[in-house]
Amino acid sequence: MSEFLGQDIKFLPGVGPKRAELLKKELNIVTFGDLLYYFPYKYIDRTKFYSIREINAQMPHIQVKGKITSLEVVGSGQKQRLTAQFYDDTGSIELIWFQGVKYQKESLKLNTTYTIFGKPSEFNGRINVVHPEIESEGDITLSPSGIFQAHYITTENLKKGFIHSKMIHKMILVLLEKMQGKVQDTLPEPVLRHLKLMPLEKALHNIHKPDSNLDLRNARFRLKFEELFMIQLKILSLKHNRDDKFMGYPFTHVGYNFNTFYHNFLPFSLTEAQKRVLKEIRKDLGRNIQMNRLLQGDVGSGKTMVALMSALIAFDNGFQACLMAPTEILAQQHYASISRMVSGMGLGIELLTGSTKASERPAIHENLLAGRIQLLVGTHALIEDTVNFKNLGLVIIDEQHRFGVAQRAKLWQKNDAIPPHVLVMTATPIPRTLAMTVYGDLDVSVIDELPPGRKPIQTMHFFDNKRADVYNFLRRELANGRQVYIVYPLISESEKSDLKNLEEGYRHISEEFTGIEVGMVHGRMKPAQKDAAMQSFKEGKTRILVATTVIEVGVDVPNASVMVIESAERFGLSQLHQLRGRVGRGAEQSYCILMSSYKITNESRKRLGTMVRTNDGFEIAEMDMRLRGPGDIEGTQQSGIGFDLKIANLAKDVQILELARETASTILTKDPRLETPEYIILRKSLASSQKTEFEWSVIS
Ligand code: ADP
Ligand code: MG
Repeated sequence: MSEFLGQDIKFLPGVGPKRAELLKKELNIVTFGDLLYYFPYKYIDRTKFYSIREINAQMPHIQVKGKITSLEVVGSGQKQRLTAQFYDDTGSIELIWFQGVKYQKESLKLNTTYTIFGKPSEFNGRINVVHPEIESEGDITLSPSGIFQAHYITTENLKKGFIHSKMIHKMILVLLEKMQGKVQDTLPEPVLRHLKLMPLEKALHNIHKPDSNLDLRNARFRLKFEELFMIQLKILSLKHNRDDKFMGYPFTHVGYNFNTFYHNFLPFSLTEAQKRVLKEIRKDLGRNIQMNRLLQGDVGSGKTMVALMSALIAFDNGFQACLMAPTEILAQQHYASISRMVSGMGLGIELLTGSTKASERPAIHENLLAGRIQLLVGTHALIEDTVNFKNLGLVIIDEQHRFGVAQRAKLWQKNDAIPPHVLVMTATPIPRTLAMTVYGDLDVSVIDELPPGRKPIQTMHFFDNKRADVYNFLRRELANGRQVYIVYPLISESEKSDLKNLEEGYRHISEEFTGIEVGMVHGRMKPAQKDAAMQSFKEGKTRILVATTVIEVGVDVPNASVMVIESAERFGLSQLHQLRGRVGRGAEQSYCILMSSYKITNESRKRLGTMVRTNDGFEIAEMDMRLRGPGDIEGTQQSGIGFDLKIANLAKDVQILELARETASTILTKDPRLETPEYIILRKSLASSQKTEFEWSVIS
């Protein structure tokens, strides 16, 4: 950072220690640089003037030239206010001040031309403007550029300290004056030239005080690019670093286990997507660099098979593998289906979870150390310190977002010299832009195809008044031997009343469907109880399962054909999609029924509409990001990479992001250590942030 940008904000004329303290506390602005990089959130076109006749109270803001004919202080004490009659050739409006009454009364002059700016409202049939910005002719601060006026987000506390948007703008104008020639560009000259980017000083100037519409656009582009480029450069250089540092076991060949399974045991043909992903994994495993791969695939896309076949490659090279799932029931499910698929191959496969009996554990530990167990399937129990492998070569983590970074790190350490390869699987599709950022240093494989013969789930949205019809529909499905999930949302923050909500639902459903076994599961049950309830549904003993979102992850009951989601407007898109994925796993047509009240917000309407329209998890993820903004998407906060974007938007700036990544990648390929003179500035800015984030990269 140049010396200028690093200066303490309190030394800026007009700021001083008190305001500096406030800026720091409220906006985390400490230096000149922080303030310069505090970008406006909107611009108002100040070239537009209205005549008073045109104004109505619905306009967001108005700018009018006129004169004051009378000033009057009305009321007294707390209620005191100053009113001014403000007119032009076409009519008059009232200006009102509740604060600074005395000051305004003394400083405003009658019959002088003023420009006022503010939000119009209506009272007793008259238009008024409360606390307008008001300035006399020739004063430049109201409309500094004469084109767009920048507006900044402030807080209540800042406003109390008289730091409102306009004040921030004034400070920045002073700073821009002082900045001339003192700020070194952060981007290398060849990049600026090649992409025709606006130089930094000019961009900072134009972002706060645009000279023209075009200049503003170019300034925004440049600053967005810079922001995304720095993130990509950081991520990609971490990856380069890691590839350098972390050796992996080369799994050089595909042998007996893989081939035998492929030719004699595989119960279906692989989809093209599964084949492609396996090739990608195979290639990674063959190098002597540790694999760190994220496997994304929608629910039901067949990730387990990919996991198993990757493990077979590990066995072929004399290594062990483990598969870790987030819940007991999922671990059991994996263990059961994998054991079934490879039965007859003579492989050592074992299950280890929290409920594995203490008496069985010593044998498992021993067999692991001796290498007699080749694949260990389990839950968090796998990362306990007592669990040691002979030679763990591949770690597979299912439903990645349920595991914390620290837990993954522990698995990592199960091998001393060389870390095992890591394959992380997730059914939560992440928009591509986000994947490039949050998981930017992982390699990503995508299964974008479902096995053939699946009937797409039909999704319908009903308002609560159609409940009787929905129940009739459920009766028909139940009569055909199918099973039904009914999911209730968390309504209040209190677990107690949520439980009450669920229990009421359970009672209601039991009464409505007499003669049908109804089960219930929720998060407050003990794991054993929960598993028993799930098991009983799995075996078809209970036909309707009333549940909270605990059933969201991975559970496989092919005979369940209907998912009813109550108060669906309360769920996020990705959660709705996850829930829907619980059905559609068998040969029968499956349905997802979204129930909602009649009064729902526009955004809820869009969410439910998206669910009805598409089954495509990636499309849903993109929409989710657009509706909620990238910050709220699962994975961003946990990622630990700690970027908060100041100007770029991952939902909107896809092209800039791609350009940034490409540029960063090209530079690192040419000059991995950023040693050539033109790239040295990049190395400097990376060096400061790299230290803290390195750890994260190692274990992702
Ligand atoms: P997920 O990706 O959600 O973990 P699973 O691995 O559980 O999906 O697979 C869902 C179902 O699809 C399983 O019953 C599995 O046996 C089946 N399956 C996987 N791959 C194929 C395929 N290529 N052809 C047919 N069925 C498949
Ligand atoms: Mg799965």
